[in-house]
Amino acid sequence: MQFETITHPAPTSDAARKAAIVDPGFGTVFTDHMVTIDYDEEKGGWHSARIGPREAIPLDPASSVLHYAQEIFEGMKAFPHADGGLAMFRPEANAQRFNASARRMAMPELPEELFLEAVQLAVKTDAKWMPDIDGGSLYIRPFMFASEAFLGVRPAKQYKFVVILCSSGSYFKGGVNPVKIWVSQDHVRAAIGGTGAAKTGGNYAASLVPQAEAITKGCDQVVFLDAAEHKWVEELGGMNLFFVRSDGSVITPPLTGTILPGITRDSLIAMLREEGLDVREEPYSIQQWRAEAESGELLETLACGTAAVVTPVGTVASPDGEFTIGAGGIGQMAMKMRERLVELQHGRVADPHGWVMRV
Ligand SMILES: *Cc1c(COP(=O)(O)O)cnc(C)c1O
Repeated sequence: MQFETITHPAPTSDAARKAAIVDPGFGTVFTDHMVTIDYDEEKGGWHSARIGPREAIPLDPASSVLHYAQEIFEGMKAFPHADGGLAMFRPEANAQRFNASARRMAMPELPEELFLEAVQLAVKTDAKWMPDIDGGSLYIRPFMFASEAFLGVRPAKQYKFVVILCSSGSYFKGGVNPVKIWVSQDHVRAAIGGTGAAKTGGNYAASLVPQAEAITKGCDQVVFLDAAEHKWVEELGGMNLFFVRSDGSVITPPLTGTILPGITRDSLIAMLREEGLDVREEPYSIQQWRAEAESGELLETLACGTAAVVTPVGTVASPDGEFTIGAGGIGQMAMKMRERLVELQHGRVADPHGWVMRV
């Protein structure tokens, strides 16, 4: 498919862009362009691929996404390399996961090559929005939604795929800090057979009340237990978990359909195994978590995802009281894995798995 290029009539001036990306934070400093590709079942599928100015998207008030929430997204980053080039981390895994999400939400798949071409084009076009600061990146947000104007309940016949970018600062401003997490009591994130493994907006909507509750309890993040027994630890609102134990084993909850299959999670499994650790994908209960933290059998708990890479969990709080993991600080494995991933993403170490894709 050929991408049409629509020239931006008024791109941001160099001075304004440089000022905006000095300290961009996260999620508010958007670049000048966006990629869009339309889908119409009646027109034979995907068509009208283009890159042009980032602008508002007209939506009919009956667009299905506004009523029945057919929407999926991805979250990925482009990193600066020392030679001035840029690279993405395992983008083909994002393309595959995007299609897995699409299948679950009864949406059309986007050919993987087209997904990759779209994100590459977006990043190349707005490469100069890369902040020149330690830990800076271009955050890439590909998403798709049902645009058909129709109120009946069935999969839509028209969709829009869009890629937008934002300049992003370091998640770890002022250094890595262990997070304190709240064990959600009254809410679950996903049930067996539900949409927990799809990266869809609705999962996030459902996590906002428990996340807000975590904040009122003085915590940074919420951790969800399984819906059936309320016993097994699943994940945070947007990060997967690893439990590092003193016997050389590491446990991470299995992918049973209720957990988002993180690409950072998958990468960490491989990297921890290369460290000689016995990584097991098996259920881990909240009781076990507390008991092993208290006995010292549990050395560290790591939370991981594209945004925060690897973050140590320091304290876990619930109505039954709090417990601390290790000394409540930043464990060795958290630091080691975080640094290794960051070095890899920035092209500063060898890439034996071929995870880094130059833009
Ligand atoms: C995106 C996401 C993650 C992390 O996935 P990565 O591919 O590692 O960024 C974890 N949990 C949820 C719910 C997510 O949406």
